[in-house]
Amino acid sequence: MNPTRRPLIAGNWKMHRTVSESVALARAVADTRPVGPRTDIVVAPVFTALTAVAKALEGTRVGLAAQNVYFEDQGAFTGEISAPMLKDAGCAWSLVGHSERRQLFGETDGTVQKKLFALKKHGLAPIACVGETLAEREAGITYDVLRRQLDAMTAGLEMEESIALLTGLVIAYEPVWAIGTGRTAKSSDAQSAHAFLRDRVRDRFGEVADTMRILYGGSVKADNAAELLAQPDVDGVLVGGASLDPAGFARIIQAAG
Ligand code: PEP
Repeated sequence: MNPTRRPLIAGNWKMHRTVSESVALARAVADTRPVGPRTDIVVAPVFTALTAVAKALEGTRVGLAAQNVYFEDQGAFTGEISAPMLKDAGCAWSLVGHSERRQLFGETDGTVQKKLFALKKHGLAPIACVGETLAEREAGITYDVLRRQLDAMTAGLEMEESIALLTGLVIAYEPVWAIGTGRTAKSSDAQSAHAFLRDRVRDRFGEVADTMRILYGGSVKADNAAELLAQPDVDGVLVGGASLDPAGFARIIQAAG
């Protein structure tokens, strides 16, 4: 971590937990003590639990995220939920481009960009996921994939528009082969990927790169969080499976300081 950036610990609950279970889990996360004074905490429950979890988190330090968003505000888009609707439900954040969305639900670099625009338009903070598959890693094209996914977020934008989009944006580097597999990236590999992403943004858009938070995700657990968080360009972690266990998630939060 770098002291100029606030650590961010985010829990992605994926398609787990009923409404009442989500409320109980949210309360347990909010009860975590002690928490570093600068640590930001965010949880992402299923859509059906958002409103109830928002209520449970009122007055706490824990922010609420959606796991996905659609880019239109409203209309004939059966099954989708828009950014203003997420805001109405109490969200301040949304994940975008999670690898499960990209791999299982046809999310593309193009739709990720539209979703970023929609979130920014409505004042929600995006956590935009990037990461290479195992095949891409083995083919030696990890950084080409990261460059493509990152550059696509600002494709077609002028310099000022790009900087506006990147301001407040959180990137999550999530190597696909590490998600839900128990295989975590070596902390040195995570650092290299994070530095690559930050350098790419700095080369193209300047100092906004230094305020941009980059999270690592992929089988983060209480036991490996501290080493990952010790890397200078790792500003936090996005946690899937281990965020469903409040005691383990508390230890991850505490590893941030
Ligand atoms: C995720 O879903 O974003 C994730 C990182 O999952 P896990 O921690 O279970 O690998």
